[in-house]
Amino acid sequence: MKRRPVARTKRKAKPARRSRRETREELALRAGQLFARLAAEYPDAHCELDYRTPYQLLVATILSAQCTDARVNLVTPEFFARYPTPRALAQAERGDVEELIRSTGFFRNKAKSLVGMAQALSEQHGGEVPRGMEVLRTLPGVGRKTANVILGNAYGINEGVTVDTHVTRLAARLRLSRQTTPEKIERDLMALFPRADWTLLSHLLIWHGRRVCIARRPRCEICVVNELCPSARVPRLHPDGSSR
Ligand code: SF4
Repeated sequence: MKRRPVARTKRKAKPARRSRRETREELALRAGQLFARLAAEYPDAHCELDYRTPYQLLVATILSAQCTDARVNLVTPEFFARYPTPRALAQAERGDVEELIRSTGFFRNKAKSLVGMAQALSEQHGGEVPRGMEVLRTLPGVGRKTANVILGNAYGINEGVTVDTHVTRLAARLRLSRQTTPEKIERDLMALFPRADWTLLSHLLIWHGRRVCIARRPRCEICVVNELCPSARVPRLHPDGSSR
């Protein structure tokens, strides 16, 4: 006897399990723990651009846009030998600067910014790199990110948090910010961490982003903040091979 086809009933989709949203206090507590663990893991975290003076750091930071620090560090020794001061760079032929920095990419724009920045320093600031966010931002090629690098590293002034590609990625993975623009991410981070830690915070996130929380394949299995990270893909492996 032919069986009558059983009408298929659509299975009700299970409602997606949502994890409870962290309270402000819980997030602040976790942020403090994250900072402590990263600081213990990277006690030497620092800016990886080579420089000796605020002017040199400004040049190196402008060159580092869309380029690795390692590549910039290959170019800057000759650059600083040729243009040791803002006044020397202000008088440079743009074409010569372009040739020197070609390997860092976007070399035409960067050369224009560098010479313009040096002219502004020479003509309006007595050849010195200024110490204020607003005034720094008036220099060609200098935005908030670059100004934060200069203030935090050359002058020890915690004016903000440097938000680069690594900090953006880690702030999202660690669920420290749900924002997507650097300005808004920076605001969230500034609200979560004490001002005194802002410069070091960006170094710690950048170091972790370069070494462990890599863009393509984060190495969660060896990550020291694994237990504090909502994006961990696998548990952390302990030295004895367990994931306790
Ligand atoms: S657990 Fe994974 S995703 Fe989270 S910070 Fe560590 S490496 Fe990045």
